[in-house]
Amino acid sequence: MHITALKGIGEKTAELFYKLHITTAEELVHYYPRDYEYFSAPVSLNEADTELPVAVTGRIRGNVATRHIRGLSITSFEVICSDGMTLHMTYFNMPYLKNSLKRDIEYVFRGILQVKGSRYVMEQAKMYKPEEYGRMIDRMLPRYPTTKGLSNHTFVKAMKQAVEAVTLTEDYLPETIRDANHFYTLEQAVHQMHFPDSRESLIKARERLVFDEFLLFILMVRRMKDANQGIANEYPMIEVAETTRLLESLPYKLTGAQNRVWKEIQEDLISERTMNRLIQGDVGSGKTILAFLALLMCVANGYQGAMMAPTEVLAAQHYETLIQMQKQYNLPIHPVLLTGSTPAKEKRAIYAQIESGEANVILGTHALIQDKVVYHRLALVITDEQHRFGVRQRESLAQKGNTVHVLVMSATPIPRTLAIILYGDLHISVLDELPANRLPIKNCVVDTSYRETAYRFIEKEVSEGRQVYIICPMVEEGETDELENVVSYTAKLKGILPPSIQIASLHGKMKPAEKNRIMEAYAAHEIDVLVSTTVIEVGINVPNATVMMIENAERFGLAQLHQLRGRVGRGTAQSYCIFMSKSKKPDTIARLKILNESNDGFYIASQDLKLRGPGDLFGIRQSGALCFTLGDIYQDANILQNASEWAERILSQDAALKGEQYASIGKYLEHAFINEVDFRTI
Ligand code: ADP
Ligand code: MG
Repeated sequence: MHITALKGIGEKTAELFYKLHITTAEELVHYYPRDYEYFSAPVSLNEADTELPVAVTGRIRGNVATRHIRGLSITSFEVICSDGMTLHMTYFNMPYLKNSLKRDIEYVFRGILQVKGSRYVMEQAKMYKPEEYGRMIDRMLPRYPTTKGLSNHTFVKAMKQAVEAVTLTEDYLPETIRDANHFYTLEQAVHQMHFPDSRESLIKARERLVFDEFLLFILMVRRMKDANQGIANEYPMIEVAETTRLLESLPYKLTGAQNRVWKEIQEDLISERTMNRLIQGDVGSGKTILAFLALLMCVANGYQGAMMAPTEVLAAQHYETLIQMQKQYNLPIHPVLLTGSTPAKEKRAIYAQIESGEANVILGTHALIQDKVVYHRLALVITDEQHRFGVRQRESLAQKGNTVHVLVMSATPIPRTLAIILYGDLHISVLDELPANRLPIKNCVVDTSYRETAYRFIEKEVSEGRQVYIICPMVEEGETDELENVVSYTAKLKGILPPSIQIASLHGKMKPAEKNRIMEAYAAHEIDVLVSTTVIEVGINVPNATVMMIENAERFGLAQLHQLRGRVGRGTAQSYCIFMSKSKKPDTIARLKILNESNDGFYIASQDLKLRGPGDLFGIRQSGALCFTLGDIYQDANILQNASEWAERILSQDAALKGEQYASIGKYLEHAFINEVDFRTI
């Protein structure tokens, strides 16, 4: 059912939904809320939280006054709360309140409570009649990740219709599994996910959907494992002098861990079986050089090698680095870059070079496994960061007649037990050592009153020839202004820092070519300060950048903050990371301070979870790792374990998933859109 069939969605609104990759009602119901607005029972002022919206009950006392200042009308009045305390209310540009408010009745006011000196203040609070608010208590209103011009209100209205219209009764998960886990049906889960009756039902709904996601993923992994095990090496290689020569000319020596893993890779490529290997190594552990060595070995043996990155920016960076190395060390390689935004004419030329074998190292995004690409002797595919090389991609290459060597590189720190579940089809190498020439990054966790000082510090670093990243959680101004956004922040910063400092912005809504241009300019030091979203989270390597400042740090999971921090401290200079928190709450600050304690990504993620407790499921995602839609491998480690046990049980009973009981899973698996093959650019 097309979304324009829903009431209130015309072509114009539909366009906005398309931007979010939603074209049908079926897709809409699987687009889940970012978080929920929770209407809690009214509290007394001295017990009220000062950072989240709260509701208080009270009566208006005295006059409702409206003043006009510079074209702005300000309406203010006092409220005597049910506990006898006074609350000062302010509203902007709502002069009609003066006549519509009644003095002698009770209202419920809901908003963010501010404490100014000894006064309690609320601005722009929503007002309800007590019986009206009473009906909303404990209700959760979904808030969707929407796009500019598409309000949450429109979204909710469309979703209400969609969940009614879409048939979800065909649940692929057999009743036996649902019953054993006390799971909701698919229909219940989807309904409760969007319009939960209670917090408990929301948690239950999410648990079911996360289980689904993990179960399908694990079944896919198991399939790949069975398919890959012991495939004969169609592209046998020998050790070559070129890699040894490169290692001798590099300005640094490989770490012990890099050396060990490089040996493992070489053994794989030489062996009688096709390589399927994962390199797990924390940010900055030096994975890229291992990938380049493998590509070089491949080329020296007369084959082609390809390396895929999840974003164009990262693909372009690898290309530049490799070109530079090729020139500097006179490497016998001919690299090409192939991404979605490569112009058509250039693309055709590159296709021809790949087909003839003239190009022997192919770098790019998923564009490099598309139908049009015909390889000459492709023997190795490497994927860098975040995205696995999925079954579909292997299939599409297999159709081209290749069973290639596969090397997956990931900076996601996970313990071995989880890695075996998630990467069961791959052999695992761990890079557990950072290059020795690094100075530890200096961190500080501060509140916004420190901002001035931070800007002065940034100025000083820039004047010494260094570069800076500033991260904001949002792209542009949205419905709520609680979070910093890249667009406004950049404009503001240009007014604060001296004009000699070059400031630019980067975010996911820019065209890929534009993103590349900015990133190249930053790498070439034509830009001093880059204001960006987490689009730079993965992979980016500009060793001259020494300051990372993260706004609204309280809104990020620590594992993600750790990844962001990993963008600095990549050279020999001292680097700094400033975590700017809008929240002054002691537990928020304490949580962020964990980042000071350790540079071990997994330790950080697990401490974060311990502090926040299992109830805190929404709002903060630990990581975008592996790109599950709802599931989070850290937060939902228990569900992951459970799904893994079920997968084991299911496959031991019916490995082909063709029998009566599990056929529905098998069928679903054939058609499922599995996120591991999702190459959405961030
Ligand atoms: P990541 O593991 O996060 O992908 P990179 O491969 O981008 O890390 O490496 C980060 C930086 O460290 C690069 O500038 C790289 O040249 C450098 N590097 C890699 N290995 C070493 C080493 N053994 N000694 C010193 N510097 C290294
Ligand atoms: Mg990397």
